Amino acid sequence: MSWTIRQGAKSSSPATPAAAAKIVGIGTGLRTKINASIGTSSDICDLGLEIEKARAAQEEGADTLMELSTAGNLDEIRRAILSCTDLPVGNVPLYQAFQETIRKYKNPAKLDPEYLFELIERQLEDGLSFMAIHCGINQYTIERLRKQGFRYGGLASKGGTYMVAWMDVNKRENPLYEQFDRVCGLMKKYDAVLSLGNGIRAGAIHDSHDRAQMAEMIINCELAETGRNLGCQTMVEGPGHVPLDEIEANILIEKRMSGKAPYYVLGPIPCDTGAGYDHITAAIGAANSARFGADLICYITPAEHLALPHVTDVREGVRATRLAARIGDIAKYPERRENEKQAALARRDMRWEDLEQFLLFPDLARNTRQERMPLRKETCTMCGDFCAMKKGMEIFETDITDKRASL
Ligand code: SF4
Repeated sequence: MSWTIRQGAKSSSPATPAAAAKIVGIGTGLRTKINASIGTSSDICDLGLEIEKARAAQEEGADTLMELSTAGNLDEIRRAILSCTDLPVGNVPLYQAFQETIRKYKNPAKLDPEYLFELIERQLEDGLSFMAIHCGINQYTIERLRKQGFRYGGLASKGGTYMVAWMDVNKRENPLYEQFDRVCGLMKKYDAVLSLGNGIRAGAIHDSHDRAQMAEMIINCELAETGRNLGCQTMVEGPGHVPLDEIEANILIEKRMSGKAPYYVLGPIPCDTGAGYDHITAAIGAANSARFGADLICYITPAEHLALPHVTDVREGVRATRLAARIGDIAKYPERRENEKQAALARRDMRWEDLEQFLLFPDLARNTRQERMPLRKETCTMCGDFCAMKKGMEIFETDITDKRASL
């Protein structure tokens, strides 16, 4: 099953001209796509910086972009981001809903459900292509959390945590769950994809697949089916922090319970001690999640768990996640390895310029080589005179290696 995300398909906003729209397919049989997230915080609120990050994410090859600002004028920021990229843009509407409620009443529990639905429509009118909406948190989920009574990593989702608090104080059901058909109606009206947010995801590998997380996953998978039956493009969001040995099970369970709905995974992060290199931690998780069937992967930057990312963090995050998705796709689609084969042949034959067209990061490869050029230009400075490739070509006749190449 796959869905199509297009930017501003029914947008009434001049910020998202149809000509700029990029269409991205997400789901079974397609290349694993990657998302880059940007956005302000109360500590670093600089629209110019976020625009720079959005452009950097697109330049580096992100497929979609999430605008996740929580500080500043969120209408203005959203419109500015939509107008600076032709990537499909998504968001989390609960951020603005709680930000504006706090600003007005100094109390997030005063969030008015009617205002929340109006806000979702206002955001969709600007041309958003997808939204992560926390519909799967309900009283049943919270009951599981309460009975469990303990978590090593607490709650890791901003929107999810605020919604849990709202439900707790107001002793009411989550309006996004209660009026799910209304959510689907809005998404359909604006041809946007509903991503069922993972509000109870584990924020530590020791909490992975605990009862509270699983309760929300069951509900989200159920809602994915309901949404599909209502004609709404729906995908499920996944964790979070998951140890490597549990990733396969996580993906298989989501696919099985949701009727193969596209799965949008936040890495996952398979270890809790990699801060500073968490783009690599997450890339290891992402290669595995892509391999077992994840369809869209949110990048993680080196600043994860530490600070708001800078532009360089965004670039590193996109690159690491693209590489992870490529590794996962090689395993997911063994019949699509021609590019890898051609790269190997170009490397074997020391056709350095040809090689670049098969690489994910040709600019980086070229610069590294040119910085340290060898005395014999067909080799490289790693082994110099001891170049195994060169010696191998002398040992084996070219026609033998050519025959092998055609196997
Ligand atoms: S010098 Fe070493 S690393 Fe470089 S191409 Fe030859 S075998 Fe490979």
